[in-house]
Amino acid sequence: MFEVKNRITKKIDDIGDNHIGSSAKTPLRADAFEISDKEKIDRIKESIKDILETLGMDLEDDSLKGTPRRVAKSFVKDIFGGLHPDKKPKLSTFDNNYKYGEMLVEKNITVYSTCEHHLLPIVGRAHVAYISNGSVIGLSKINRIVDYYAKRPQVQERLTMQVVQALQEALRTDDVACLIDAKHLCVNSRGVRDIESSTVTSEFGGKFKELETKREFLDYIKMETDFE
Ligand SMILES: [Zn+2]
Repeated sequence: MFEVKNRITKKIDDIGDNHIGSSAKTPLRADAFEISDKEKIDRIKESIKDILETLGMDLEDDSLKGTPRRVAKSFVKDIFGGLHPDKKPKLSTFDNNYKYGEMLVEKNITVYSTCEHHLLPIVGRAHVAYISNGSVIGLSKINRIVDYYAKRPQVQERLTMQVVQALQEALRTDDVACLIDAKHLCVNSRGVRDIESSTVTSEFGGKFKELETKREFLDYIKMETDFE
């Protein structure tokens, strides 16, 4: 029995260390929002206090006194704020009056996320594209949707898929693509300590699965734009 349990624990450790995500949906419990944000902050504050005390830190020190509350607040309101469905940006669309039927690419969107296996930062860029099927969306909404899904304990593959799925739903078309190139601090700062490496994930929907369309999208991403 003990051996079976050990093997399962080992498997879970391996999944985490290899950054294998299990599903396109964020694994949230059904009761995730039964307690208020305020209560979450109070509880997390106690947990952070416990961690720091266990590490031997003196929480009476002026520099550390406010840390548990500060961290708890940033977990709930900021870095994991995108867990709350109420924070999802309203993705209102407009009629495509210009009849612009080409690809629209929003590139170099900043990604600040958190690896759910190590709770360390993922920092990078997202490039998102769609081909209008009659509706268009405000450009800043694309940045906001990336940020919303990034502000969760994440797996880069899942983030990429969630962005595509949200835009497919809002724009009522399959023709959406997303590519994310990001550094994982858990890889860069611990374990193999590879500072230079980054991870690329992509999700191509509809027409973007076709080689020519995919290539056009990738060419736009590579294109250097000089704004001087
Ligand atoms: Zn990690």
